[in-house]
Amino acid sequence: MLSQIKGLHHVTSLASSASENNAFFTGVLGLRRVKKTVNFDAPDVYHLYYGDEVGSPGTVMTYFPFPGAAPGRRGAGEVGRTSFAIPTGSADAWVERLGRFEVGNLAKDSRFGQTRVLFNGPDGDGFALVETEDDRAPWLADGLSEEMAIRGFHSADMTITDDGATAELLGFMGYDKLDTEGDTTRFIVPGGNAANAIDVTQAPRSSTRATQSAGSVHHIAFAVDNRARQLEVREALLDTGYQVTPVIDRDYFWAIYFRTPGGILFEVATNEPGFDRDEDTAHLGQALKLPSQHEHLRARLERQLEPLGD
Ligand code: ZN
Repeated sequence: MLSQIKGLHHVTSLASSASENNAFFTGVLGLRRVKKTVNFDAPDVYHLYYGDEVGSPGTVMTYFPFPGAAPGRRGAGEVGRTSFAIPTGSADAWVERLGRFEVGNLAKDSRFGQTRVLFNGPDGDGFALVETEDDRAPWLADGLSEEMAIRGFHSADMTITDDGATAELLGFMGYDKLDTEGDTTRFIVPGGNAANAIDVTQAPRSSTRATQSAGSVHHIAFAVDNRARQLEVREALLDTGYQVTPVIDRDYFWAIYFRTPGGILFEVATNEPGFDRDEDTAHLGQALKLPSQHEHLRARLERQLEPLGD
């Protein structure tokens, strides 16, 4: 069993409009845009990162907005909901705020004893805000107080039909089974970061498979401290029979990827070097940053990529 993984690092999803995506995460949820770059494998498409002040691991929601992409279909074999942590007692204020912005499928419930606000993103993305004690410092966007602001991720909720294979994998990755409620089992990394929970919802074998497009989670990334710990995780996964990619330089972290038995793409990402490696903290996310291999495309990309606003 591994001990290097500390919880979530980032969650990456697909969107249909860069400007709408930016307005939702900065203006409605009040996260900070900490990086404006492009998809390293498809540089005509943005890669937008939203998180706390510096984009701490465990706070960073990232998007590939493909202009005009059709909505994905929710189903089995995906991360169907991404949850953020909010302060205890702030759920009603969030219901009021999200109602004012007319978000889809707004509801309030409770799971594992925690009050949640459920809602959809602009492309039908499944989100929740979970009331919890969390001492992470929030980014304070306009109109959001310290008593209300998002602290970072709480958990990710996978919907699967694999009869325990994902649970076994999470156990190998260092997650402990915490509790079960209905069809959902919560796993946590003891001693992990504040985004150390994963919920696994077992769906019937006959469930429709998810179709990945706008509003779908593309992959979830787990945090390790550094490259040495990442190589240890890679070796262990290879020894267990997983097909793992080589280490890939993503400029702000190093990444390896593998697919779970339930069909979900997992990444293991390093906490180093971080989003302030190429711009200072005060100006994070404002300039278009391109990886060196795509720098020669700058003039064309700056012309073609949709303006985001602030
Ligand atoms: Zn990633």
